[in-house]
Amino acid sequence: MSFEKELQKRSNAHFELCGLVEASISYAIPSSPGNKVETHLCICPTCDMQMKNIETANVNHLRCLNESIWSEEAAVKNVSLRMLHKLKALD
Ligand SMILES: [Zn+2]
Repeated sequence: MSFEKELQKRSNAHFELCGLVEASISYAIPSSPGNKVETHLCICPTCDMQMKNIETANVNHLRCLNESIWSEEAAVKNVSLRMLHKLKALD
């Protein structure tokens, strides 16, 4: 099974940060080794844009981080934590 399919299966076709159901974007955690499902997330276009440029962040959309940070998936937890740190730096 390709990692894209594994990722779809793991995420149950839901975005793993905000939980919305739409067409998905496969997001590779920066500086992570290899092309593996463990280092990728399914995210929505809004989360993707906010990760690339935190200054465009919509705080209401990112309330999802309160829950995603407790995910059992290390990749989801890792990216949620990175996003929270970026948001904190904006204050
Ligand atoms: Zn999102």
